[in-house]
Formats: sequence, structure tokens, C-alpha cells
Amino acid sequence: MSYSASNSRYHEMIYNRCGNSGLKLPAISLGLWHNFGDVDVRSNYEQLLFRAFDLGITHFDLANNYGPPYGSAERNFGDILDRHLRKYRDELIISSKAGYDMWEGPYGEWGSKKYLVASLNQSLKRLKLDYVDIFYHHRPDPDTPLYETMSALDLIVRQGKALYVGISNYPPKRAQEAFDILERLGTPCLIHQPKYSMFVRDPEEGLLEVLDKNGVGCIPFSPLAQGLLTDKYIHGIPRDSRAFRGHFLQPEQITDNKISKIKALNNMAQERGESLAQMAVNWLRKDERVTSILIGASKVQQIEEAVAGLKCPAFSEEELQKIEAILDQ
Ligand code: NDP
Repeated sequence: MSYSASNSRYHEMIYNRCGNSGLKLPAISLGLWHNFGDVDVRSNYEQLLFRAFDLGITHFDLANNYGPPYGSAERNFGDILDRHLRKYRDELIISSKAGYDMWEGPYGEWGSKKYLVASLNQSLKRLKLDYVDIFYHHRPDPDTPLYETMSALDLIVRQGKALYVGISNYPPKRAQEAFDILERLGTPCLIHQPKYSMFVRDPEEGLLEVLDKNGVGCIPFSPLAQGLLTDKYIHGIPRDSRAFRGHFLQPEQITDNKISKIKALNNMAQERGESLAQMAVNWLRKDERVTSILIGASKVQQIEEAVAGLKCPAFSEEELQKIEAILDQ
């Protein structure tokens, strides 16, 4: 049966302007890194997409190598888009990226013009799209001149294959250099995608200031530290978890110290009348420089919980200090 979007899809979501651009992004975006590959259950990921859109999540984040196997998340998303979401294309922001290993040989990863242009052409075929809304360089390349990588992003926009460009995983100094080149080329950087959560604080060491100064948006990925910042692992590793599957989140990362912090944060979330997952998302949202929180989900309820959390109360200064004290343990 064909999907029809909910008429109330724009009732609850908050939309934030992305840096100095004209583009607004939903406060919560959905990433397709896990759970949308050929190894996953189609009826489940179809429902994840439909429910997300029904709740006002207009932004879906992909990359060339999401799956597994590589490319399959884009292909699966493209199939669903074609069958069910085509009529909503102009209500959607679809992102892709290139930078990590995608195919064999010297042109299948990093940041050359050859790789970025070829990879986006492949992504567009899999996605069944003429253009993506945002195309990212996925990670800095220590060898390719930054000018070449940035001019490839500029070229892609001029070719009409992406509307906006972004960078991901760039440290502050390299990010500033990239913004300067893009500005000179006439294709300002829209957004930066860093890893950022209560457990991973690197963006606070200069990156957020650089983004703010340059009018570039910020979309933190892995805001729940891949599921650690939920109540999921408090009593062990459940079978239906990323850590059990051992795909990127390894059981040995779930140390006793982490669990004790998670328990204390979970108690605090309960006192606030919210779940730890909701508290972790809202903790990132407290910073106005953060445009959208890029969550992942294996179940529809996880998306519903994150969106419902937008209504949770703001943090007091005392609560923020208490969180810092827990994280410092
Ligand atoms: P999260 O930190 O949000 O982790 C998501 C996972 O946590 C879910 O798949 C689920 O895993 C678990 N989870 C979510 N909500 C709940 C809940 N309420 N209760 C219990 N468990 C929950 O983000 P991801 O690590 O998935 O990253 C999000 C997106 O960021 C990616 O899809 C991708 O688009 C992007 N990304 C970008 C990178 C980059 O280099 N630019 C790198 C990594 C990600 P489960 O139920 O299976 O345990």
C-alpha cells in the first residue's frame, strides 16, 4: 500500500535556521548509518522513515558507504523514496557524503576531485535523485590539497548535483581553512557534522566558536553515543542492541565507569520526568549554535521518544553543573 504522509506532520517539530543560510533544518534529523542496509528488515526501516516524516523530520542523512553492504542504505532509501516519497521531494532534505573507503583503488576514498565527483554520481543513481540537498566531505584528507577538495564541492554545486555543501569530522583550524576557500569560491559552507554528545566533548574545544564566527550550522552525530546515553545498557547488553551486534559499538566500550555515569544520568533524567535519551538530545540542543541533532534509530519508538522530548523543560544552571559533575566522575 502506498504511504500518505500525516496531515499533522508540521504540528510538533521545531525548525532551526542553519547558520547564516536560508535553510531551516528540523531540531531532530534521522541518520541512516545503521538499520537501513541489505542486512536489515525492509518493513522496519520503511516504517522508521514514514514515522519520522510524519513527525516533521524532514532531513535524512546518508553517505556513500552506509549499509552494509556499502551503498545499500542509499539504494534502499532511493527505492522507498521512489515508491512512496517522490511526491514529497520538495519537503525533504537529503544529505550524502564521501570521504571514507567506498571502492577499491586509489580513487575510492579520501578527498580528490576524482573521488568526490564519481562518488556523488554513484550516490545519485542509488538514491534515484537528480541532486542531493547537502553533500559533505566526510573526513579531512591529510594528503589532498584542501583547495582541490573544496573546489570539487563548489563544482558539484555549480553542476546542480547538490544545493549546499558541508564538511564532517574536520578539526577547527582545518574547518576554518575550508570555510575560507569555499567563501572565496562563492559556495559558502552550510554545515559541519561533528561527533558530539555528553560523552564526546571535542567540539567545545574551538569548533563551535569557529562555526558561530563563520555562520556555519552544526549537526552533531551520535548524540546518544550510539545508544550508550539511554537506559538500554544499565542491566547488561540486550540482544536487540548495537553493542550486541558488535557493529561499531563494541561491548568492551561499555565499561563499569561508563555504566555508573549512565545510571546517575538516568536517575537525573527520571527526576526531570524524561528519559535519558531525551535528556541527552536536549542537552545538545541547549547550545544555540547547534542546528539539528542527528539521531539514529532501530525502532519507531526511539524516534517518537526523541521527538516527544522536544517538549521537555530547559536545564537550570544547577542541573547543567550536576551533569558535569556526573560526567567528571
Ligand atoms: P545515536 O547516538 O543516536 O545512536 C543511535 C542508536 O542508539 C540507535 O540506532 C539505537 O540502537 C539506539 N537508540 C536510539 N534511541 C534509543 C532509545 N530511546 N533507547 C534505547 N536505545 C536507543 O546515533 P548514531 O550513532 O546512530 O549516529 C546517527 C547518525 O549520525 C548516523 O545515522 C549517521 O547519519 C551520522 N553519523 C555520521 C558520522 C560521520 O562521520 N559524519 C559517523 C557516525 C554517524 P540499537 O537500538 O540498535 O541499540
